[in-house]
Amino acid sequence: MKSYNFWGAFILGAYALACVLFAPAHLGPWKALLVGEVYFVTFWFLCGLYLADVLHLGIAHRSLDFPDWFTKLVVAANNLLGIYVDPIAWVNRHRLHHKFSDHPGDPNKLVTDGFWRTLVLCVLPYRAIDDVATDDILKTATFRLTAHPVFAVLSQVLNVAALTWLVGDLRFALVMWVGLRVFSLWVNMIQNYWAHTPSYGFRRYDDERDQAMNLGEWLPVTATFSACLQNNHHHSPSLLRLSHRDDEYDFGFATIKVLKRLGLAKATSSGRAVPKEVGLTALDF
Ligand SMILES: [Zn+2]
Repeated sequence: MKSYNFWGAFILGAYALACVLFAPAHLGPWKALLVGEVYFVTFWFLCGLYLADVLHLGIAHRSLDFPDWFTKLVVAANNLLGIYVDPIAWVNRHRLHHKFSDHPGDPNKLVTDGFWRTLVLCVLPYRAIDDVATDDILKTATFRLTAHPVFAVLSQVLNVAALTWLVGDLRFALVMWVGLRVFSLWVNMIQNYWAHTPSYGFRRYDDERDQAMNLGEWLPVTATFSACLQNNHHHSPSLLRLSHRDDEYDFGFATIKVLKRLGLAKATSSGRAVPKEVGLTALDF
């Protein structure tokens, strides 16, 4: 088993065990496990929808068009109820990550950064050297409010309080709250460290300017909404799918196909342009 898969599975197992061990008496272990898993899956999924689909493909790369109301609803819901991530800073850092990939100017990681350094950078990234997040939607009230540091603190205090009220136990609420954020740190490390370190995964394109790798197993692909297919993605950043073979497993792509079916996502002209070296028989979107 690859080390990154081991750590992902370990965190998932430890989370389930902690839900059972710290179950409040009025719930009992099995109900507590069910409550813990529902919380985990709901807010992991909402965060994936927010980061991978709406911010990443919708705003940072302009590969997909979402209705403004839907974008704002997802931004508000995730940052109020789920794992807080400053939307404006994220778009800016992500564009700089593509511009400088693994070199000075990339806020995520440099070639010389190892595991522990990259782990710290997930929480305290390098300072952004430019402001490339100037899109009109980022200037709207929803984005300005959710990007404010006071909102960041208040929303997280409020959602711990709401969770405590719902489950009737502060200790159990903290187990779920912290557990989900430990998992999200692993998800972040999959993208920033393991999928940017040449000793892991595989490369389909020998692009010299970055160290992006593809990790193709179902656990990282599902957990990251396919963001671990970094070599594919850095090779053609505006393509709306991160898998480059018809049979390559792509959970993120499955989610945007559902959004399209619901009438919530449309491909932009750059999002649907498939470069000729990408081995897809059809875009299938
Ligand atoms: Zn990207």
